[in-house]
Amino acid sequence: MGSGQVTDWQGKNVTVAGLGVSGIPAAKALHGLGARVTVVNDGDDARARAQADELEALGITVRLGDGATLPDGTDLIVTAPGWQPDKPLFAAAGRAGVPVWGDVELAWRLRGPGAAPWLAVTGTNGKTTTVQMLTSILKAAGLRTAAVGNIGVSLLDAVLGEEQYDVLAVELSSYQLHWAPSLRAHSAAVLNLAPDHLDWHGSMEAYAADKGRVYEGNRVACVYNAADKATEDLVRAADVEEGCRAVGFTLGAPAPSQLGVVDGILVDRAFVPDRHKSAQELAGVADVSPPAPHNVANALAAAALARAFGVPPEAVRDGLRAFTPDAHRIAHVADVDGVAYVDDSKATNTHAAQASLAAYESVVWIAGGLAKGAEFGELVARSAGRLRAAVLIGADRGLISEALARHAPEVPVVDLDRTDTGAMLAAVQQARRLAQPGDTVLLAPACASMDMFANYNQRGDAFAEAVRGLGAGA
Ligand code: ADP
Repeated sequence: MGSGQVTDWQGKNVTVAGLGVSGIPAAKALHGLGARVTVVNDGDDARARAQADELEALGITVRLGDGATLPDGTDLIVTAPGWQPDKPLFAAAGRAGVPVWGDVELAWRLRGPGAAPWLAVTGTNGKTTTVQMLTSILKAAGLRTAAVGNIGVSLLDAVLGEEQYDVLAVELSSYQLHWAPSLRAHSAAVLNLAPDHLDWHGSMEAYAADKGRVYEGNRVACVYNAADKATEDLVRAADVEEGCRAVGFTLGAPAPSQLGVVDGILVDRAFVPDRHKSAQELAGVADVSPPAPHNVANALAAAALARAFGVPPEAVRDGLRAFTPDAHRIAHVADVDGVAYVDDSKATNTHAAQASLAAYESVVWIAGGLAKGAEFGELVARSAGRLRAAVLIGADRGLISEALARHAPEVPVVDLDRTDTGAMLAAVQQARRLAQPGDTVLLAPACASMDMFANYNQRGDAFAEAVRGLGAGA
């Protein structure tokens, strides 16, 4: 299918792999463009059948219960990003010389001439927050924009819909990047890199390489985290457009070509006339909500991308001030008896929980859930000095209690030995007993929630409800 834009879809046989959030709109869009579309799906349950009926009514072929066989005559596969590269369907495609695109590649190839450039964000943690901050900043600059990709408006809608954009703020997962070989962003940021989804990618190297694809072909800036060398290495390895710059962000004072923090002010030493002699004030740390260190890093990354796009400093400040974080991300629930209760239920891996713990001096830590193969030693060792106590819940709490025993033996631990939904109330009551005025009781589970809750939202809601119960009794 070449490497550029595909304008003529008439008579092209496209196999869409996977019904679901990306597959159904992709199938409909390709069918609408004149392609002959076959959707293949592993599952064959009632929901899949209902979805299949809807597509078949439009004239799209659907094969349920067989996601492994490559339909005869396939010219192109468009896959759901989550499909693992070692699936037999892709081996068959490889043998037949059939290209495989993910949802992002499809959207990229379907953009019209003169389409809005993309500012792309990836990383292990902080993607959604950073993209939302970026969108807020771009809007404050009067630009027509939207948060797209893993969040907000679907990418296909953004590139094919009626709405006109000046620029898009695009959140990209490592899976999406894996399947997006020809994506070329205006500028991109990798926020951080910690082991995650290694079962899917096969190794840390493969995971990093997929994240690094976001920098390929950047035109203006590759934004990296100066405190995370792996992100800088990815910039070095990338093949970019002539004149594209490497721009770092740091929580310390910025070197030339960096954005950083000086005396509580976010400053830019990259996008200024003379970066060796001058710096530009952008906003106060207090303008970032919440002003936790990792979130200030997110704000700096968002600011760097916005500045790469030519946004003036005041818009960075106004956009950050206008931004409010999504629920369950370091959300302050209440103060009870001089103790702050904070919900970071979205801290579903150890890297996120470590950032969260680093934001407070003295913490009663509520943790546990599904570990997804994670190791807790480093998290506990690095956070030990901040822990007043720990309260553990959930299926894999034993792994955390072992790490605490080894790396923080002096920290009192309450192992609730419970995985029922009501355990959160007990956890909050235990935490209250252990906390002292000035402490923070922090829900930062470092684990997924599905052993006890439908999702991290429900887990955070249970925490908040338990905390509100304390307030009433206080
Ligand atoms: P993502 O979209 O990458 O999952 P979010 O913005 O939704 O990221 O944040 C998820 C969680 O990751 C937050 O609740 C917080 O605990 C943590 N987090 C956010 N930003 C960072 C960062 N820059 N570094 C480390 N952890 C972070």
